[in-house]
Amino acid sequence: MSKERNPFKIAQEQLDEAAEHLKLDPATHEMLRWPMRELHVTIPVRMDDGTVKVFHGFRVQYNDALGPTKGGIRWHPAETIDTVRALAAWMTWKTAIVNLPYGGGKGGIICNPKEMSEGEKERLARGYIRALGRFIGPERDIPAPDVYTTPQIMAWMMDEYSKIVGYNAFGVITGKPIRVGGSLGRGDATAKGGMYTLREAAKVRGIDLKSAKVAIQGYGNAGQFAHKLVTEMFGSKVVAVSDSKGGIYNPDGLDFEEVHKVKVETGSVVNYEKAEKISNEELLELDVEVLFPAALENVITEENANRIKASIIVELANGPTTPEADKILHDNGKFVIPDFLANAGGVTVSYFEWVQNITGYYWTAEEVYERLDKKMTQAFHDMYEMYKEKNVHPRLAAYLVAVSRVVEGMKLRGWV
Ligand code: NAD
Repeated sequence: MSKERNPFKIAQEQLDEAAEHLKLDPATHEMLRWPMRELHVTIPVRMDDGTVKVFHGFRVQYNDALGPTKGGIRWHPAETIDTVRALAAWMTWKTAIVNLPYGGGKGGIICNPKEMSEGEKERLARGYIRALGRFIGPERDIPAPDVYTTPQIMAWMMDEYSKIVGYNAFGVITGKPIRVGGSLGRGDATAKGGMYTLREAAKVRGIDLKSAKVAIQGYGNAGQFAHKLVTEMFGSKVVAVSDSKGGIYNPDGLDFEEVHKVKVETGSVVNYEKAEKISNEELLELDVEVLFPAALENVITEENANRIKASIIVELANGPTTPEADKILHDNGKFVIPDFLANAGGVTVSYFEWVQNITGYYWTAEEVYERLDKKMTQAFHDMYEMYKEKNVHPRLAAYLVAVSRVVEGMKLRGWV
């Protein structure tokens, strides 16, 4: 099994592989191996019992050659600067592959929001923004929600920043509630973006999605919408889904409304009765055409990669496939739509939210989806052209496209 590894080292190694293919000069390569800027902050928060607790937080601006940095804020007890650096690097490649006028960033606070009251969370959110001050801004660095941060937290952060600058700065943060500058279509944007890339992959692979069988690992935001959308948009048959308690399988198909109801009412899909129980490991190896890993990292490894039967793997989760497994899947003729392309729908609709905020003109859901479709379709084909030209696995192809774009920006600006 894969060992626990420093995520920033992994991000650097992935870049190194791309740098070698692109024959980057040493200065350009070194510049891309490290964040351009990072800020470490301490945030004193008055807790409900009257004591003051000091929290530690970070904001990393990895590279802003192509525009202001963009990336979520995570609240997690095990947050580390290296995790934030790695995620900021991946945001740089993600925004570049979908051609957004952004660089990559990420933030984090070491805390356990499950043990905090709403008031404590609000004071922490506002304190973090005061600590960052003008390090962020609509033209500089634009945060968003991520692990354990919500639209409400984004609203408090936007409000605090607006107080600092003295005007309503809706464009400083995305993922806000609709009433205070959020965008329609943000809720299912990640899964929807994944569907557009799947549609294109199916075309080039000659797979008829209408008769395709589908398995989905994970039944949270990404997994549930994947079940709904793959059925609605393509008429595919979802035969298996799972969550942390285990999986369910029915070769005749699983009805979205029924399974979703059981998940909401009982907390797990395993309580759905019209299906047989399977393990999460078995789900990954089912005889299906399409597999959605939509839960955790490192689930497809060198141990099981040879047993994966799906022709197309759509990585809605971040990091579900290890580098060793990538090569095995490629050799076996399987096609992975890599995470930073497959799940880029979320940041793309975040970009649309920011555009609507700074222009003050708001779009319909249809307009959002139409523009999302164009962005994701183009990004898929940019990657696919590179994949065919270089005959490398799709993740490396996506890296080559994304890194080249950032390098071009740095060179045009005269940095390297
Ligand atoms: P979520 O917390 O809403 O759902 C996670 C799901 O995974 C839950 O159903 C949970 O039960 C399940 N799970 C946990 N452990 C599991 C296990 N061992 N086996 C199978 N299932 C397990 O999270 P989400 O927002 O759906 O995100 C899922 C993945 O997609 C993450 O990797 C996330 O980084 C990625 N992602 C999400 C978004 C988004 O907009 N939601 C955007 C980009 C990437």
